[in-house]
Amino acid sequence: MERKVFQLGDIVQMKKPHPCGSNEMEIIRMGMDIRIKCVGCKHSVLIPRAKFEKNMKKVLCSATKETDPTESM
Ligand SMILES: [Zn+2]
Repeated sequence: MERKVFQLGDIVQMKKPHPCGSNEMEIIRMGMDIRIKCVGCKHSVLIPRAKFEKNMKKVLCSATKETDPTESM
């Protein structure tokens, strides 16, 4: 199984949509728990990392571009 890579500031897509209808969240704090902010209603929630990784579908937009081996320098 592929490990999910995410970092502070990323916009991620969740498997379950937020009650407001949006399933896009922004990572605003990382630690033992992850704080994410709903892009739709700006509501923030603190969830355990394990739960976040389970509920996250994919990273939509990475805040800081890491060196991509497929891109030429
Ligand atoms: Zn929301």
